[in-house]
Amino acid sequence: MQITLNNLVKTYSGATGATDVHAVSNVSLSIPSNSVYGIIGKSGAGKSTLVRLISLLEKPDSGEVFYGDKRVDTLDGKDLIAQRRRIGMIFQSFNLFASRTAAKNIAYPLEICKTPRAEINKRVAELLDLVGLADKADAAVSQLSGGQKQRIAIARSLAVNPQILFCDEATSALDPQTTRSILSLIRDIQKKMQLTVVMITHQMEVVRDACDYVAVLDSGAVVEQGTVSEIFTHPKTAVTKDFLANLTQNIPDTASDVSSGEASIVRWSQEGGKYTLRFVNQMTGEPVLSRMAHLYPVEFNIRAGGIQHIASGDVGTLITDITGSPEALSGALQYLKSQGVIIEEK
Ligand code: ADP
Repeated sequence: MQITLNNLVKTYSGATGATDVHAVSNVSLSIPSNSVYGIIGKSGAGKSTLVRLISLLEKPDSGEVFYGDKRVDTLDGKDLIAQRRRIGMIFQSFNLFASRTAAKNIAYPLEICKTPRAEINKRVAELLDLVGLADKADAAVSQLSGGQKQRIAIARSLAVNPQILFCDEATSALDPQTTRSILSLIRDIQKKMQLTVVMITHQMEVVRDACDYVAVLDSGAVVEQGTVSEIFTHPKTAVTKDFLANLTQNIPDTASDVSSGEASIVRWSQEGGKYTLRFVNQMTGEPVLSRMAHLYPVEFNIRAGGIQHIASGDVGTLITDITGSPEALSGALQYLKSQGVIIEEK
C-alpha cells in the first residue's frame, strides 16, 4: 500500500500569549508500498505529530493523506474506524494489557472485530509462532522481557492483517542487541506480508539497520529524503550530517567490538580527520588509497574506519588526513572522486 502525503500542515495554538507551534509544516512525501520507510528527527521535530496524521489518529489543518488511490484524511465515523482497524501500530511503551496473558493480548483486536473463537485461537497461535514466542502463550505480561513484550505487541498489531505498520520509536526502550533482533523481525515480517512499514525514530542506527528509504524531519519540515544509501553517502543538510556523525561517535572503539559485530567504525585517534571518505558497496574492497599515494606525492593517515552495513548494502567509511602540496592534494582528491569515493571535508 503506497502512502502519499500532500502539503500536510498541523499547527498547535500556544498557551495564552505564546506563539503557535508549527508541529508539521507543509510535508509532502511519497512512501512506496512494500518497503520500510524511516522518518528521523530530533526530539520536537514533529515526528509524533506526523505519524498521528498519517495513521489517521488526528486530522491535519490542511493537506491530504492517500492510501493507494484512496483519500483517507477526510474519513469520519464508521469509515474511519474501519480504515483504522486495517492499520498496525507499535510503540516504545508496548501498550500491552498487564491483566491479560501474551496470547490474550494478541487476541484482543480480533475479539473487537467479533472474530469466531476458533479462528482467534488459530490466528493467535500462528502469530506467536511468527514472532518466535510460541512457548509464551500463557505468560503474564509482567514475566516477559522488553524484547518479548515488543514481539507480542508486533503480533497483536498484525492480528488484523494490516497493510501498513507504524513503528513509533519501537526500539527506543530496548538495548542494542534486542533492538537489532526486533528490527530484523520487522524486516522479515515486512517481506513476508508485503507490508508498508513507516518507522519513526531519532536513531540513525535504526535507519541504517532497517530502512530502505528515509526522510529527515527538522522543525516540522522534511529537509532531506531518499534511499538510505543516498542519504548515507550524500548527506546534504547539517541535520543529516549531525545524525551520521553521532552514529560514528556512538560506536564502541575497540577492535574486539568490531569482530563481535557490535561496532562498525573503530576510531584509534581522536585527532585530525579532515576528510571523511565514503566507499559504497563493491568499492569497499578496493585499494584506492594506496593507489592514490602511488600516483600523487601525498601522505595519508587514517584516524578511524570501518564498514557500516545498511539494509541495501555496505558503506565503508574512513576518516583520514591527507597531506601534500596544494597541487598534489587537489590531484589526489580528484583521483578519489574519479574512483567513486564520496568525500566530505571538515
Ligand atoms: P517529536 O515526536 O519529533 O518529538 P512532536 O510531534 O511530539 O515531536 O512535537 C512537535 C512540536 O509540536 C513540539 O514543539 C511539541 O511541543 C508540539 N506539540 C505536539 N503535540 C502537541 C499538542 N497536542 N498540543 C500542543 N503542542 C503540541
